[in-house]
Amino acid sequence: MPNATELRYLERCVELAAEALAAGDEPFGSVLVADDGSVLAEDRNRVAGGDHTRHPEFELARWAAENLSPAERATATVYTSGEHCPMCSAAHAWVGLGPIVYAASTEQLSAWLAEFGVAPGPVAALPIQAIAPNVPVSGPFPELTDRIYALHRELHRPA
Ligand SMILES: [Zn+2]
Repeated sequence: MPNATELRYLERCVELAAEALAAGDEPFGSVLVADDGSVLAEDRNRVAGGDHTRHPEFELARWAAENLSPAERATATVYTSGEHCPMCSAAHAWVGLGPIVYAASTEQLSAWLAEFGVAPGPVAALPIQAIAPNVPVSGPFPELTDRIYALHRELHRPA
């Protein structure tokens, strides 16, 4: 159960995911929060242009590397609508960011995509802790499952 503060950041992630979907991108959104609770940066998925590395978690890791000290990174939390993929988990760990709080898990997303008949992507659907074992992780949070499921259902709705 997320506390009220965590839920507020996760709800912002879901809003960003909805913005991404409305713009033709995949529905994922993420927020980087400092240890004092201030929002440092946020982004959404931007893969529609053809670059499938444009995940928000990857963008936030790069933003953190450019803009935060190692100490600031270590105490910053990434909230995200969907659990980091292996690429983003690695980026998160390499730049030394702190905890990850995600709303929906990779396991959930994989099951949904299978349900929708979507072929698996080119990267293994591994959980964060298989890639970045020292990063504190929490999620999934069932309070948000239905909304996130609906966004992915919309993306893969048959024409
Ligand atoms: Zn990713």
